[in-house]
Amino acid sequence: MAAEKTLDDLFLDTLKDIYYAERQIVKALPKMAKAAQSAELKAGFEKHQVETEGQIERLEQIFELLGKPARGKTCDAILGILEEGKSIMDEYKGTIALDAGLVAAAQAVEHYEIARYGTLKTWANELGMKEAVTLLEATLQEEVATDQTLSQLATSAVNQKAA
Ligand code: FE
Ligand code: FE
Ligand code: FE
Repeated sequence: MAAEKTLDDLFLDTLKDIYYAERQIVKALPKMAKAAQSAELKAGFEKHQVETEGQIERLEQIFELLGKPARGKTCDAILGILEEGKSIMDEYKGTIALDAGLVAAAQAVEHYEIARYGTLKTWANELGMKEAVTLLEATLQEEVATDQTLSQLATSAVNQKAA
């Protein structure tokens, strides 16, 4: 029989998953900023780039609270989502629909992150990790705000131009 695994194991594994994901995202955001045609979208990606660097630091603080080394665990989901984003950048390069595609790709990233941070926050709460809850909540709020900014961009300039 497999050794008993607990919520602590699940929390640590999921922390490694999002740590891996954030480190992929921080590499992808400059490429998305460079590709964006609208100045607003470009600025949005640049702002989130800086936030993401801080989010990686928060995750490292949580690993420290756990007394574990900060290590990533391959997240196939983020690799797939970022791969789709790259396809859009390639296939829609130089077209009027590019920015709408970039917004859609970025929202898929944010939604994955919101799912992960929401879960981690709930588990940290159940495990009585108060400091971790605060750190995870801070990042969750940034991801939600980014998603809302992207939604606003999608319904304003970006998509209308593409229509
Ligand atoms: Fe993030
Ligand atoms: Fe994952
Ligand atoms: Fe994000």
